[in-house]
Parts: sequence; C-alpha cells; structure tokens
Amino acid sequence: MGKHIITPTLPTFTIPATAQIESLTPYYPPEKKQAVIAEIKQELKVQDAVLVAHYYVDEDLQQLAEETGGYISDSLDMAKFGHQHKAKTLVVAGVRFMGETAKILTPEKRVLMPTLEAECSLDLSCPIEEFAPFCDQYPDHTVVVYANTSAEVKARADYVVTSGIAVDLVKWLNAQGKKILWAPDKHLGHYIETVTGVEMIRWQGSCIVHDEFKNQSLNELSHAHPDAALLVHPESPADIIAMADVVGSTTQIINAAKALPNKTFIVATDKAIFYKMKQAAPNKTFIAAPTHGEGATCSSCAHCPWMAMNGLHNLLTVLKTGENEVFLEETMRQKALQSTQRMLDFARDHL
Ligand code: SF4
Repeated sequence: MGKHIITPTLPTFTIPATAQIESLTPYYPPEKKQAVIAEIKQELKVQDAVLVAHYYVDEDLQQLAEETGGYISDSLDMAKFGHQHKAKTLVVAGVRFMGETAKILTPEKRVLMPTLEAECSLDLSCPIEEFAPFCDQYPDHTVVVYANTSAEVKARADYVVTSGIAVDLVKWLNAQGKKILWAPDKHLGHYIETVTGVEMIRWQGSCIVHDEFKNQSLNELSHAHPDAALLVHPESPADIIAMADVVGSTTQIINAAKALPNKTFIVATDKAIFYKMKQAAPNKTFIAAPTHGEGATCSSCAHCPWMAMNGLHNLLTVLKTGENEVFLEETMRQKALQSTQRMLDFARDHL
C-alpha cells in the first residue's frame, strides 16, 4: 500500500496593513528628528553596538546604518557582516528571522531588534509543528529552506539558501541525484523549477508584498514607459516574473540598475530598496510596480508592514533599555548553524 502523504495546511495569521503601521509611527519635526538621531548615534557608541539594516526598512534607518559604520544588505549578508564586526552588540533592523540568523551565526554577541513583533509571512506560513512532520514523510529528500524561516525550521533543514544562490544550489544537488523538498515560498520554488528543470516537493507559502504585484497594471505601466527595464524579485508570482527583464535577489536588483543602460526601471520588490538603488544609480528613475488596490485598499502597497514596524523611536528605546534581545535554545541553534554554514560553504566553493 502506498504511503499516505499529508498535504500541509497553511496556518492563518493576521497581516497588518502598512498604512496603519506607518500611522502609528511617531512623527518627528526636523529638529526633534535630528536630536533623536544624535541620541541614537551616542547610544551606539556607549553600547559598543553596530546597526545592521535590511534594504526594506525606512530610509532613516538605512542612512543611520551608513553614517555610523553599520551596514545595509539582504538577510544573509547582514548576518555575515555582524559576525565579522568587532562590536559587542548587533542591532538588527529588519524582521524576526533576521535577528535569529544573526544570533545563529554569532551567539557570543548580544543581538537586539527595534521590535520583536516584526514577522514575515513566509516564516509565519511555515511553523515547525507543521513543517517537521511534513518533512518526515519524505525521508529520502534533501530539505532546502529559504532564509526567510524561523531558526527551528532552519534546524530541521539540510540547507538554507538565499534567493541569490537558490538556483545554483538546486542544480548542484540535482547533479548529485538528490531529491529536493523546498520551503516555504511557492513562487520562488516555482521559479527555481522553471529555471533548473528540477521538480521539487514544495511548501505553499508566499510573501504578502510580492504576492500583491499585479500583472495587468504592470503591463499598462510598461507600455507607458517603453524604455524602462523591469526588475523583479523571484518571490513574485510567475506571471510577473515572466514579464521581467531581470529576475534577481535584492542585491542583484541593485546591481542591475547600475549595470543596465536603461534610464528608467520598474521595480517589483519592496520600494524601500529605492534608497540604495538611487545611491547606486543616481541619475536613473525608479518606479514601484503596481499592486492590487491603492491607498487603503492594498495591504502592503509595495512596502512590507512588518519592515515598517522598525523606526527611530523603537531603535532608541531598545538601545536605552536593552529590551528585545534575541535568544535561541543552544542545541537548536547549533543545528540551524549547520544548514546555514552549508550554504556559506557552498557559496564560497561554487560561486
Ligand atoms: S517583504 Fe515579504 S519576504 Fe520580506 S519580510 Fe516582508 S513578508 Fe517577509
């Protein structure tokens, strides 16, 4: 008799609206804002702390990271920077799994976050209680998970990947005859299958920001800007990816804006990335790809609500109080380190 395969049921969770989150962020008049920034800079020195920010957080935080010797990048690069930096405290401005990844790689340091409530729909869609029994049904499969997962899920995986190396790693595993179970992003999983021709068992999570990009309006926008190149993150749905000139990770999208001759770009990822894109290509124009709904009727409007929870106000509070520290159970952290380290070793040896 064939083995009974349990299809995972994705948990339901509440998605905050970005506009609502932003309305809760305190507004600082210019003088007050400068005073808060000065206080944060002072606290970073006193606490021997460095600020590591994701491309998708508010540009005030990205600018602060730059001005204070910190760093702005994608989740893995953030963790690698924090690991190599001499500061005793890492302040991670991003979402929860990013703070966890920093702690996985650098357990000896204190890792703080402006908020511990900043989640990610990919992480939330793949709780370990559902994921572990799902993996157990495929004991002959290599479990590959995206970086946007909890430390527990990373601990259950054989490999962690970022969007920048997922295709190469899957090709490499396939060449060794490995069968692959992929989680949690269904769109990225579909994209990897399309590019590599490798079929995988796939979890069905998605990013609520990239899920909202809308094919028809994007078509209209592209016609209105015929010379614009379309840059798309592979967490986007297949019909959006099919229209892209370049599909790539956040870092690859920034590099494409610099390298391509086009003067205008339509960008299908979180629009907070424009801060770094404008630095990389100062004379070019960036337009956010259209989403389902507008204003109050879209939930993200191309900006992640959880990323939007990070602000100057809670960054200062955390530095002053030491609250929101990230802790991980040690045995689990060591297992998560193994799958994360395999990715770092793969990137070092094969890319
Ligand atoms: S933008 Fe999407 S993938 Fe990134 S943290 Fe937000 S929900 Fe997660």
